[in-house]
Amino acid sequence: MYTPTPSLSAWSIFWVKIFRRGAFADPPARHGIEALRYLKETTQGLIEPFQSQINWAKEDDSTTCFIDEMKTWTPSLGFDTHGGRVTLVGDAAHPMLPYRGQGFQHAVVDADLFIEALKKGEGVEAYNTEMVERGAKAVAQSLKEAELSMDLEGVKKMMMVRQGHGRSA
Ligand SMILES: Cc1cc2nc3c(=O)[nH]c(=O)nc-3n(C[C@H](O)[C@H](O)[C@H](O)COP(=O)(O)OP(=O)(O)OC[C@H]3O[C@@H](n4cnc5c(N)ncnc54)[C@H](O)[C@@H]3O)c2cc1C
Repeated sequence: MYTPTPSLSAWSIFWVKIFRRGAFADPPARHGIEALRYLKETTQGLIEPFQSQINWAKEDDSTTCFIDEMKTWTPSLGFDTHGGRVTLVGDAAHPMLPYRGQGFQHAVVDADLFIEALKKGEGVEAYNTEMVERGAKAVAQSLKEAELSMDLEGVKKMMMVRQGHGRSA
């Protein structure tokens, strides 16, 4: 398929900075220009072209900026299935940090296995058991990857670096 290149002036650049809480003084604001200035001030010395992308973010209404905490939890059995009629899939079941690039993949696997269970006339219990075990493993891996990503020696040990995006759990 051929897609004409749009005018560069119409491009939007999207970047994410991830940092550990406490690595810098708390941000003065969670959104808007002050938050953007904080991110710029605490982001120095990146290899190009990444540093320039940060520096070029305009400090006006054309830039949208939010600072928030990434949420994660380990799934467990015992949630109310309303008599086997309700279950969980995807991030609602096992929100994980994005360091392994696995969240969407597990959401798709969940949906696939849930539909298979329905086709076989099974209740949600067998699905729940497999999903919780697989989801808990993936959440744990994402947390470990996050820790390793915080310094260069750790980065070398990351599954993402050694194995890439392959299915993990
Ligand atoms: C920075 C980042 C990078 C990522 N990279 C990868 C990657 O490389 N590979 C990968 O596999 N995964 C990745 N993920 C994870 C992936 O995006 C999620 O795991 C996936 O989107 C989860 O899908 P979901 O359908 O469960 O939830 P969502 O995509 O969050 O969908 C939930 C939907 O429900 C809507 N909603 C919420 N409340 C209500 C309500 N009350 N009424 C109606 N609708 C509602 C929301 O608006 C949303 O559209 C990444 C995530 C992040 C944040």
